[in-house]
Amino acid sequence: MKYKHLFFDLDRTIWDFDNNALLTFKEIYEKYKLKELGINSFEIFYSKYKFHNNALWALYRKAEIEKEVLSVKRFELTLYDFGIVDKNLAEKIAYDYITLSPLKTGLFPHVYEVLNYLSEKYKLHIITNGFEEVQYKKIKVSDLNKYFENIITSEEAGTKKPEKQIFEFSLSKASAKPDESLMIGDDIAVDIVGAKTIGIDQVFVNYHKISHDEDITYEINDLIELKAFL
Ligand SMILES: [Mg+2]
Repeated sequence: MKYKHLFFDLDRTIWDFDNNALLTFKEIYEKYKLKELGINSFEIFYSKYKFHNNALWALYRKAEIEKEVLSVKRFELTLYDFGIVDKNLAEKIAYDYITLSPLKTGLFPHVYEVLNYLSEKYKLHIITNGFEEVQYKKIKVSDLNKYFENIITSEEAGTKKPEKQIFEFSLSKASAKPDESLMIGDDIAVDIVGAKTIGIDQVFVNYHKISHDEDITYEINDLIELKAFL
């Protein structure tokens, strides 16, 4: 057996980030009566938020913005799109979002079955770019703690995927060598390219069946497929 260590991404690989965020947004939309403030369409509110959030995360990945700023700014800009200038409301929503969304437990299909199977044969770890307190909460509430030997966040590592330093940090923390390790993630640019850079084999979890021309060790559309070769 070639591999000893399996490194998983968390968001959008194991934890169903988009569906959990959607549920949280629906709660926030109701709680703050955003419809009465003039935000008539929940769908447009949510799509505006996603636009600003993605743009700010791109800056955060390049270390051009602090996480505390990102956390509030994404809501401030979304409200502003609807003519609402209210930093105080943005701060309240930001707090609620970061508090409530990690308590959601929506996971992708077969997560527990696959982790039960893999944890008997391999040492499992997580490498995630999320915020430390948020990621730990998600893992605990979703009852995933018991499967993972190490949970490495970009905050702890002081560097983010796809930078090679976070993978080196993770290998060192897990006492693992690149050629006995496998990175499993949903993001080609972040998980796959990053792992490849330091000689770790990769599994692309291609839930949305996107087409690409990246050379990847394995590709799957559902985590259950891992059992076929691991
Ligand atoms: Mg991901």
